[in-house]
Amino acid sequence: MGIIIDGKRIAAEIKEAMRKRVESLKEKGVQPRLVIVLIGDNAASQVYVKNKINACNNAGIHAELVKFSSATTDEILAFLKKVNEDPSVHGIITQLPFPPNIDEDTVLSSINPKKDVDCLNPVNAGKLALGIDAIAPCTPKGIMKMLDYMKVDIKGKNVVIINRSRIVGRPLSFLMLNRHATVTICHSKTADIPKHTKEADIVVVAVGKPGFLKKDMIKSGSVVIDVGINKVGGKICGDADFDVMDKASFITPVPGGVGPMTVAMVLENTVMLAEKFGGTHD
Ligand code: NAP
Repeated sequence: MGIIIDGKRIAAEIKEAMRKRVESLKEKGVQPRLVIVLIGDNAASQVYVKNKINACNNAGIHAELVKFSSATTDEILAFLKKVNEDPSVHGIITQLPFPPNIDEDTVLSSINPKKDVDCLNPVNAGKLALGIDAIAPCTPKGIMKMLDYMKVDIKGKNVVIINRSRIVGRPLSFLMLNRHATVTICHSKTADIPKHTKEADIVVVAVGKPGFLKKDMIKSGSVVIDVGINKVGGKICGDADFDVMDKASFITPVPGGVGPMTVAMVLENTVMLAEKFGGTHD
């Protein structure tokens, strides 16, 4: 039976550490401030954004939600210009997914790299890819922190990530590579996913399909990081079958695993940007 990684507990420790760093910033006259932009009416996004805002405010970060029920790309760009240049704003998140009329690449490229909490500006994403010291996106960074916390060795390990999105799989592959893992990325066009997962020391599954990762797809003693968030019969679950736990050495629960770590990393990245850049634009 695998050990369940308590993401909630690790996240609580990180949030407490952030609360102290916020206090120090305030003593120096800096009030960390995060602006989250939500476009459209995606129900799941509304819940995620609320969690981020509450957690930030509890730690003393001034977090606010700016909601556009509908907007054009130009309207979002105009708003971003304002907050990019506002020295009292230290962090900006534009919550994904955007409605289809919004030009995602243009909007993400327009976030000031010095305020880019989710590391989605290509300048930051490029630095991460090259292994240059940069901000890392919240979900992959949270996964790395969890593994470190549990003292899971990454160097030289076979890591299989089932996801290639810009917020999960791609950045996580670089973080793993930077830590000397041998990384394989699988996706919907991968011919034989079990062939890869059966060889993996660490499997990260982020497909968004309940029961996707089955016990017979992993090797004994592997570490399973379940990123998926699904709703089945009114209950939240991940992408891994329940009995994967019998074979894994470590597994993250859903809820209570990667989700709280993502939120904790929103706090950490906002504090880090406030400490490093203090809201400056250029
Ligand atoms: P996404 O952009 O839709 O990515 C899903 C990925 O899964 C894609 O790479 C897709 O492949 C792959 N995929 C889909 N069906 C597959 C199949 N049958 N076989 C193999 N690969 C398949 O979603 P996302 O934003 O990355 O999120 C993924 C999941 O993680 C969702 O459940 C989301 O709610 C969850 N999530 C959780 C957190 C958290 O904090 N816990 C944060 C972010 C996301 P293609 O690229 O080929 O389409």
